[in-house]
Amino acid sequence: NNILFQAHELRKHYPIKGGMFKEDQLVKALDGVSFQLEKGKTLAVVGESGCGKSTLARSLTLIEPPTSGELRFDGEDILSLGQHAAKELRKRIQIVFQNPYGSLNPRKKVGQLLEEPLVINTDLTRSQRAEKARAMMALVGLRPEHYDRYPHMFSGGQRQRIAIARGLMLDPDILIADEPVSALDVSVQAQVLNLMMDLQQEFGLSYIFISHDLSVVEHIADQVIVMYLGKVVEYGSKEEIFGNPRHPYTTALLSSTPRLNPDKRIEKIKLKGELPSPLNPPSGCAFHNRCRFANDRCTAQVPELKWYQDTQIACHAVEEDRI
Ligand code: SF4
Ligand code: MG
Repeated sequence: NNILFQAHELRKHYPIKGGMFKEDQLVKALDGVSFQLEKGKTLAVVGESGCGKSTLARSLTLIEPPTSGELRFDGEDILSLGQHAAKELRKRIQIVFQNPYGSLNPRKKVGQLLEEPLVINTDLTRSQRAEKARAMMALVGLRPEHYDRYPHMFSGGQRQRIAIARGLMLDPDILIADEPVSALDVSVQAQVLNLMMDLQQEFGLSYIFISHDLSVVEHIADQVIVMYLGKVVEYGSKEEIFGNPRHPYTTALLSSTPRLNPDKRIEKIKLKGELPSPLNPPSGCAFHNRCRFANDRCTAQVPELKWYQDTQIACHAVEEDRI
């Protein structure tokens, strides 16, 4: 089997000290997330901002480890490993952030930025590090003279190329990208996405690609997870999610992405209200206050994620064949 990375019932729960009720409240930022990522494939995670996508990204790299669940890399549960083994494994999983302005130290030149992970994690000599940095720069479309320049001298798209190159310096197996193109113009987005797909081919990389923008996801994903308030509500192949969306939240997200719905094939569904606070989530199905199919069962009972052919969906109306 080709499963490289596997999450089982990941939870990230943390208490918030004495809010307005004077007692600790439990925030369920991630609430039972499971997935399987195949080698060389891209799993996209979509949802509005605040749905738990970035928390998931940080949990997967163990920057902020999950509070419970299993995370298997090549079959080994990295949450139960000793510190040394975990550190070694973590090198195999790198992350690229949305904001290439904030994530690159402005005082360091491109060459230094790329070599830094090698200084920290390898025994390579100075000239070996420089050689590797220069090779990586060429692969991501940077020119040799860029080696001695500072991040502020680059456009947003080029800065993201630098961030991606830095993420690949330790030869990871998995790259987690949190909104990697969201700060870029649409034309530049396409260039960076194409670069990422080329690098995926070249190195056999697996991606976890986090985005609120479904038109971007359609370009790059193999599998798609739709998240709402820390839970997976729909999970399936790109073809199923985009061609046959079932969960009302997925349908609403798709219908409001103009580039994916130019001929208004999907009736435009305006989501009522804001994403509720994870501090005070609605009872039952957390989507019920925004869902036009909600009924009494929806307000009372949390829908479980269930299989329908090749897709998993958490919705009472789907289960009851009402939609
Ligand atoms: Fe809507 Fe009910 Fe399905 Fe939730 S479970 S998405 S409220 S129909
Ligand atoms: Mg985010």
